[in-house]
Amino acid sequence: MGCLFCDIANGIVKSDCIYENDDVIAFHDIYPQAPHHVLIIPKQHISTLNDINDQQIELMGSLSIAAKHIAAELDIADAGYRLVMNCNADAGQTVFHIHMHLLAGRQLAWPPG
Ligand code: AMP
Ligand code: ZN
Repeated sequence: MGCLFCDIANGIVKSDCIYENDDVIAFHDIYPQAPHHVLIIPKQHISTLNDINDQQIELMGSLSIAAKHIAAELDIADAGYRLVMNCNADAGQTVFHIHMHLLAGRQLAWPPG
């Protein structure tokens, strides 16, 4: 079965990429839920958070470090932003290649819906 985010990471499907390094790529969400809505993904396919292992500790950290760089680049670091990772059905995961949502640019409600 194909994976949309693997295809984006490999350049097969076009995305609005705003950040990339050896391990991670970030692009604008196609259905933004806030003025800034960026998805940060590992280039390596991992289906859900349940599938990460101890060899991927650094990779998981890279997602947060990428978020920090992107927030600085978008000039939202001081105003604030939210990082979200949905796992499986109850959390609303729809794309089964792990991704971190970076949401910003408006007052975000808590608790989330
Ligand atoms: P989740 O519901 O946590 O699995 O998030 C998946 C996200 O991927 C949703 O916010 C979608 O809007 C987004 N999405 C789906 N297809 C694309 C695409 N081709 N390019 C960018 N974002 C996408
Ligand atoms: Zn994938």
